[in-house]
Amino acid sequence: MRALVFDNDLSYRTDYPVPIPAEDEALIRVTAVGICNTDLEITKGYMGFNGVPGHEFVGIVEECKKKDLEGTRVVGEINIGCGRCRYCRNSMRNHCTNRSVLGILNKDGAFAEYITLPVRNLHILPDSIPDEKAVFVEPLAAAFEITEQVDIKDSDMVCILGDGKLALLAAQVLALTGCKLIVFGKHKNKLSVLKNLGIETGIDLSPDERRFDIVIDCTGSLSGIVSALNIVRPRGTLIIKTTTAGRSKIDLNSVVINEITITGSRCGPFEPAIKSIESKTVDLTSLISDSFPLKDGIEAFKYASKPGVLKIILTPN
Ligand SMILES: [Zn+2]
Ligand SMILES: [Zn+2]
Repeated sequence: MRALVFDNDLSYRTDYPVPIPAEDEALIRVTAVGICNTDLEITKGYMGFNGVPGHEFVGIVEECKKKDLEGTRVVGEINIGCGRCRYCRNSMRNHCTNRSVLGILNKDGAFAEYITLPVRNLHILPDSIPDEKAVFVEPLAAAFEITEQVDIKDSDMVCILGDGKLALLAAQVLALTGCKLIVFGKHKNKLSVLKNLGIETGIDLSPDERRFDIVIDCTGSLSGIVSALNIVRPRGTLIIKTTTAGRSKIDLNSVVINEITITGSRCGPFEPAIKSIESKTVDLTSLISDSFPLKDGIEAFKYASKPGVLKIILTPN
C-alpha cells in the first residue's frame, strides 16, 4: 500500500505492507488524516519512533470480527492497552505500561491507506460530521481532557498560552465553561480565529504578572512552559500540553515558592468531542489551512511546519 514512512527521514512509499489485524482489531481504510504537531516532532526524533506516523484519522471499517461494524465510518482512540495491567483494569488504559500508541509508539499510524486498531478503540461517527471535521475528534478530545482534569469555575481567570491548533481547540472548549479566558499568542492571523468567536486574545504578555488561577501551556515550546510558570498565581494550576523532541533545564524554584500545581495533559474523551462537532459548538472550518493527497505528503509536512499554517489534511487521493 501507499504510506508515508519515517525512518530517520520521511519518505513516500508505494510498497508498504497492508497491516494484518489482530484477533481483536479491525482493518480500517483511511479516508482522511490530519497532520498534528506531534507528527512534526516525530520527524525531529520525538519518541524515537520509526514507521508510519499519523493518529488524527477517520476511515471506513473494511474487515472485522464484529460484522455489524464493517462498512461503518469511524474515528479511533490512539492508545492501545494490554487489557491486563493495573492501569488497564482501572480505566487508565491510556497509561498502560505496555501500551502502543497509533503512529507514535510501536504501532503504524494513519498516513497510509490502511491501519488496524482494536475494536474497543473505535467510535462510529454520525453522518452529519464530514471527514475534514472528523479528523479533529482526537485533538479536540485532548482539549476536553483539560476540563476532566481541573474543575474550571466561571469566576476563574484562565490563560492559554499558544495560538497553534491545539490552543485554538482548547480555547473553544474552555470558553464553554464560562470562565474568564484570555489566549496569548504570537500570530495575529491565528488569534483572529478566536477573536471572531468572541474570545479575548492578546499578543503582549507581561511576563511577571502572577494573576491567573489556571494557565494552560499549548505553546509547543519549552520557553512557553517557562512563560506559563511566570504568570500562574500562588497556589494556581499550570496544565502542560507541550511535548517536544528537545530537552531543556527549567528552574522549578518558583513552583515550590508559589505552591503551584502542575498537571500534564494528553489524550482525552472522544464522546464530548464528537458531540461538540455534531452540535457545531466548536468552529473547525477556520482551523483548516489546506488538504493534500497522500502522494504529496512530504510537501504537506513541509507546508504544515510553516508559521501561520493551521491544520493540514491528507486524503488518499
Ligand atoms: Zn495529535
Ligand atoms: Zn495494560
